[in-house]
This record gives sequence, C-alpha cells and structure tokens, in this order.
Amino acid sequence: MDKTGARLQDLVEWIDSHRVINASGTMTDLGASSVSQDVAEVMARILPYFIDMAALQALASRWIARVTKGEAGCVTACAASGIAVSVAATMTGLNLGAIEALPDCSSLTRTEVVIQKGHVVNFGASVAQMIRIAGAKVVEVGSTNSCGTYQLRHALSEKTAAGVYVVSHHTVQSGLISLPDFVRVCHERGVPVIVDAASEYDLQGFIELGADLVVYSAHKFLAGPTAGIIAGRKSLVRACYLNQVAGIGRAMKVGKESIAGAIAALIRWIHMDHRAVHMHEYNRVERLVQALRSLRGLKVEEVPDPTGNPITRVRVWVDELEAGMSAEELARVLRSGRPSIAVRAHHVDLGFFELDPCNLLEGDLEVIVERFTQVLAVRGKPVQAGHVGRSSETTKMGFGPRFSRYSESGLPRVDQAHVPWAFQGRNLADLRAEALLAWPDAYDEPDRDQAD
Ligand SMILES: *Cc1c(COP(=O)(O)O)cnc(C)c1O
Repeated sequence: MDKTGARLQDLVEWIDSHRVINASGTMTDLGASSVSQDVAEVMARILPYFIDMAALQALASRWIARVTKGEAGCVTACAASGIAVSVAATMTGLNLGAIEALPDCSSLTRTEVVIQKGHVVNFGASVAQMIRIAGAKVVEVGSTNSCGTYQLRHALSEKTAAGVYVVSHHTVQSGLISLPDFVRVCHERGVPVIVDAASEYDLQGFIELGADLVVYSAHKFLAGPTAGIIAGRKSLVRACYLNQVAGIGRAMKVGKESIAGAIAALIRWIHMDHRAVHMHEYNRVERLVQALRSLRGLKVEEVPDPTGNPITRVRVWVDELEAGMSAEELARVLRSGRPSIAVRAHHVDLGFFELDPCNLLEGDLEVIVERFTQVLAVRGKPVQAGHVGRSSETTKMGFGPRFSRYSESGLPRVDQAHVPWAFQGRNLADLRAEALLAWPDAYDEPDRDQAD
C-alpha cells in the first residue's frame, strides 16, 4: 500500500474504533445524524463535478416548496446559520447595498428582533447570538415563564424587523404565547415571523399557521448532511438567498454536496414509510423498558416528545441510594466506556436521563442493555414501568405516548391539540392582565354595598 493509502486506512480505523452509540437524539456534538446510504450516494456523485450553484439552489427551492407547501426555499450551512440569514433578510430585503453592509445596520430602520424570553435558549449555542450575528438587536419579551400578547404588542415598533419563535424541547413549555397568537400580533404590525423549527418533524404545520420563514436542520430527523433548510414566503426567501450567497451567509457557506444532500433527504422523506419506521423505533422503546425495569435503582417510563415529534422515549429515573450512583454519574460511566454510549442527559440535575430510539443502529440496543446490566446489579423486586403525560390518537394506534399523527400521505404531523406552542386557549398572561385591568369594577357587589 502506498503512503496515502496506509494513512487513510489509519484514519478509517480511528473512525471505526471511535463510533459512539447514540441514545441521545440528534446531537451536533455527536456528528448530528446517521446519513442514509441513498443520500450519501447522491452526495458522492456530485462531489467530483462542477455545477451551476444558482441552478442547484433553485432546484432546492422547488423541492423545499413542494415538501413544506411554502412558496420557496433556500439551503444554508445549518439551521443556526439559517436563523442568522433569515434575520438578515428581514432587515435588508433585496437591497444588495444593505446586504453587503451587514452587520453594520446604521442605514436601516428596522433592526430589532423580538423574541419571548422563554425562547432565548441554548441549543449548543445561543439563539440570541444567531440573531445578533446579522447585526440585529435582540428585544426579549416577557419573563422566562410568562409572556402575554400585550407584552409582545408593546415591544413591537417601527424599528422591529422580525419576530423569532422557537419550537423546541429546550424552550419553556408553558405560559408563553402560542404560535398562532404570536403570528397574529406580529402581522397586525406588518412584522414577519421566523420560526426556528430546527428539530421538528412537521414540515408543513408552521407555514400553515402563518410563519413567514421556517428554519429546519437537514441533519436531524431528515438524516441528511449538515445543512439548514429555510422555507417560506418567496420575497423573503429571495432575500435569504442573497444574504446567503453575497452577504453574511458567505462566512457560513454551504457546499454543493450539502445542497444536493439536503434535496436528497427531502425526496427520501416524502417517500418514506414513516409509520413503519416509527413502529420499529417504538419496538426498541418497549424492549428497552422491558430490559431496564428489572435493574437495581432504576425506574423507567415511556414519555412523549414535548413538542409533538413522533417519538416516544424511555425516561430512566436513577435512585441514587439503590443504584449507588446518581443519574449524572451513570450517564458519565456509560459515556466513558467502549463503545461509548451517549444518553439524553439534559435533565440529569433532576435525577433522570432519557434514551432516544431514533438514532440507534442495528445491534446497539443489545450493547446498551448489556452495559446497563454490567453497571447495575439485577435486583429482585421489579419496578413497574409507567406511562405519563397526555396521550393522543397515536397511542391507540399501537405507539407509546406521543402528540403526533399522520397526514393522508403518511407524513408525520403534530397533534396540535396537545402541544403548548399551538395552545388554542387564552394566553395565561393575557388573562391575568385582563383581571388586573378589570379591577375594581369587576369586583362590584352592588346589592351588598347598598344593603350596608
Ligand atoms: C439543533 C438546533 C439548532 C441548530 O441547528 P443546526 O442545524 O445544528 O445549526 C437551532 N435551534 C434549535 C431549537 C435546535 O434544536
């Protein structure tokens, strides 16, 4: 073997020996997604070629429009850069001079972006920073756990370029403004709404609810390469394209292989048998629950994805006294073994972690069960697995708890009656504001007052 061949073989061996078993979900830290073979083949096909990139992005636009039912679309480097580029687009429109001037926006009038405080999350980096990259000023609305439409209305002004709405398990899940209300209030003032739906499976729901731009990751549930997908109104998507190609997006360039891979991932998505895939994933959940419920110090239950993705996860509560270690330690022990097992550890400080069935490869489940069993001794008295949370239609279809259904063409759709971001009741902060403003007249007791 020549020198290059030998070195490349070393690299392949390093990769093979460092593979992580991913029971945590789609995580940037773990290489985002397992790209499916058919998508990888399309990417390999385009790599040696030269290609007209504008034509490739136009093809992407047509596919994004077809899959999302938006007017147009554009591929970016990732969802985070999609947020930055979308924000830039709402400030500059098609003004190439302004596009080249960013992040200096001294010549622009609309430079503020409103976002509910409970949506200012860190997904690995801060949403607020992605907005600031474009030069925009972040205007946080409400409190972490409470935001009313009256507060949003007050924050909107002649300076507002956009409203950003984040749909994610990371956000505060209750007490905030629903997306339909957020869109209505922003649109009353002519302010476009950008939805960060990086990790959401429903590719049509947010546009249906009136979002002007929606940003998805190509490398999460879509199982594509690292890329972002922006979908929405054509005039704004054109502005996104200009900012992507000739503005701040140029520092977050997306290559031909990722654009082609993102299109391939969308084509694969609309032809996939989602129910069959989800049934296969739920079968893993049932097997994990069955195997882990008998282990010392663990209490396992099935939980739905909070934002309505078609995922049921295994929540593993760790009783520190019985297990001899905390949830955080157990997660760390699993992660530091060979092969390394990554669990969904966002909430170890609350005493639990979760196992996500979506990114396990063949044979992974058996390794996970074996490692849990090695670490924790089997105990006599099994703990009953429980089901928590509100369940929806799909529970009756043989899945675990989840707030998700399927469209007529078999695509995953959110069961909107069950998720707070689509809450159909009155906003809680608004109800409180109404009660405050109703004082004292609403408390009149005329009969009694006159009787005195
Ligand atoms: C993952 C994620 C992002 C970032 O997506 P990338 O495509 O990895 O840049 C942004 N927002 C939310 C809510 C996410 O979950």
